[in-house]
Amino acid sequence: MTVSELNNNLPQGLPEFESGWVWLAGAGPGDPGLLTLHAVNGLRQADVVVYDALVDKSILDWVKPGTITDYAGKRGGKPSPKQRDITLKLIDYARAGKRVLRLKGGDPFVFGRGGEEALGLVEAGVPFRIIPGVTAGIGGLAYAGIPATHRDCNQAVTFLTGHDQTGLTPDAVNWDGIAKGSPVIVMYMAMKHLETIAAKLVACGRSVDEPVGIVCNASLAGQQVLETTLGRCSEEAKVAGIKPPAIVCVGEVVRLREGLDWLGAMSGKVLNSDPLGLRPEGRSADAG
Ligand code: SAH
Repeated sequence: MTVSELNNNLPQGLPEFESGWVWLAGAGPGDPGLLTLHAVNGLRQADVVVYDALVDKSILDWVKPGTITDYAGKRGGKPSPKQRDITLKLIDYARAGKRVLRLKGGDPFVFGRGGEEALGLVEAGVPFRIIPGVTAGIGGLAYAGIPATHRDCNQAVTFLTGHDQTGLTPDAVNWDGIAKGSPVIVMYMAMKHLETIAAKLVACGRSVDEPVGIVCNASLAGQQVLETTLGRCSEEAKVAGIKPPAIVCVGEVVRLREGLDWLGAMSGKVLNSDPLGLRPEGRSADAG
């Protein structure tokens, strides 16, 4: 099968994957339906796919026969290849004339070290394309029925990582500034230090009763959602056995899940049309 035949199945305007190029693509949070057309176009033409731990394996079913799938997983706590080695692997494949799809979980430029890998390619003179993906902090929350912004709740949202390069709670984060200035805080990689982080936010003025939503394995078959509060989230996450990968969302938007849990509704949950309690009392939902 040739590349041009494959392209015939795709809408006009999707590029040909040239030999010796690296496409650095986001795979979204897990559900293959959240791949972009550019990512699928890359999967269908790639000679090699270098993928991460957080890329759902079912996504690899989209490759053409004979494609090499090369796991470059990096998972906290387990031995993992060094970032530099992954970049060198991409360079070697590209120099060998392969079409290299570098597939990363979520969006490659959101806490994904995509920038570092791309800069390695620039340094080596390897041509590349960036394919953004649906990031877990937006798409993963949406699968739990939690919007990252909602007009009645927040005009700003902050995305932050719960640990830095050393594995500790990031010192570089201005916790006081974020606690005071960001009505919604969406945290990646925050489970390990959740207790410390929640305590920091409370110490900086957030209420212990503020809603917190934790979405584990978002958009995958094992998706779990814990609705809790800032004061109780760490303890309740332990009790519920919530493990990474998980996204933690702090803020009033979490209440909207009561009305927007569309996956729950598909299995019979009755949704609340006024989750924020904004409608005047006694007024029915369809009153003018
Ligand atoms: N580039 C990725 C983030 C990589 S950092 C993105 O844009 O989504 C890894 C962290 O992402 C995990 O620790 C977790 O906080 C989050 N994450 C990724 N996939 C997830 C999923 N399916 N469900 C919940 N959290 C996820």
